[in-house]
Amino acid sequence: MISRIKLYVYSGVSHHYRDETNRRIVVVNLFAAVGMSITFLLGMRALFAQELPLAIILLIASTVFAVSQQLQIRFRSPAARTASISLLISCLMVLTLLLLVTGGKDNTGPLWIYLVPPVTMFFAGFVMGMLALLAYTIVSAVLLFALDDILLLTSYTYAFKSRLLYSFLTVSFLSAFYEYSRQKSYETALYLSDQFERQAKHDHLTQLLNRRGAQQCLEREYARLQRSERPFSVAIADIDRFKTINDTLGHEKGDEVLKQISKIFTSRLRGQDILARWGGEEFMFIFPETDEASAVKALEQIRQNLSDSPLNINNLKLPVSSSFGVCEVNTNNTVSFAIKQADKALYHAKDTGRNNVVAASSLDQL
Ligand code: GH3
Ligand code: MG
Ligand code: MG
Repeated sequence: MISRIKLYVYSGVSHHYRDETNRRIVVVNLFAAVGMSITFLLGMRALFAQELPLAIILLIASTVFAVSQQLQIRFRSPAARTASISLLISCLMVLTLLLLVTGGKDNTGPLWIYLVPPVTMFFAGFVMGMLALLAYTIVSAVLLFALDDILLLTSYTYAFKSRLLYSFLTVSFLSAFYEYSRQKSYETALYLSDQFERQAKHDHLTQLLNRRGAQQCLEREYARLQRSERPFSVAIADIDRFKTINDTLGHEKGDEVLKQISKIFTSRLRGQDILARWGGEEFMFIFPETDEASAVKALEQIRQNLSDSPLNINNLKLPVSSSFGVCEVNTNNTVSFAIKQADKALYHAKDTGRNNVVAASSLDQL
């Protein structure tokens, strides 16, 4: 029983949606269930009491609540969700206006209008909610004060009508204020969580992806490789004689050198290629859907571009270069194996004079 209720309450929810969307789906499910049951029970009671017009209205409302709930779970699209919410709000508004017109049981019908502001604000959001409430307030005011003699099937004292309208406006204002602050804090929370996620994956100095960010990209590329069976390549770059740069210019200028190098590397990448700071003065390149030979070609240009563009540090031209080791990841190996091979190739590049690109496959032939 409990699991069936849970199944109903969470029907339509998906982990692909934003939290806010899922929360609305759950509340629409709950609200539709409550609205459907109450109007159905009251409709049946009216039917047995032979109050046919009331019974028809209530049973139609019950059906509308059911339809609006089904809409959002059957057609899982934003348009269906908007239609579902609009139906729910319209149904509630029409029902409460009818209660206002007829007076309901012993003229207590108008009390239900206080449901309208919080429900409208919650479902429609601040801007649309304000517009919907404004329209509802105008219609109610016209019914109560301008067309009361013609349209109202009951009568209210002037004091009751004015207090009803004032208190309705107060509840509307409070609901709007609540929705506005809720929306703002939700946006702030979303912004902060984006910032934290960004910081966790990026390097503070160069703004490139850090090792953790790179590892996520590698996992994503590996998953893609398994689907498409098209290889990709990883390369590790280590700046040549970087300790000397630090020793002569100081650690701070060393940091500036790393920043400039990361910009020079980035300027030579294709849109889909990824550059990360793998550690200290080591960078990782990920070339999606690229075999080793093509990666070597791309790296050769990157290497040449760096060694041909002296950096500008303290208005002095500082020549820098880097060595690169590259390895292909394909269906016959793994990412960690390829990284180890790229590292080996990098050591070989250092051993054979630096400022060069070495492919892991070339080591096998040695
Ligand atoms: P090679 O790689 O060509 O063999 O020589 P190297 O001088 O670059 O040697 P090594 O890789 O051992 O030295 C790396 C130096 O990079 C040591 C370390 O102090 C410095 N380093 C690492 N991270 C940073 C950093 O974030 N900022 C600065 N300024 N220096 C760093
Ligand atoms: Mg190093
Ligand atoms: Mg180095």
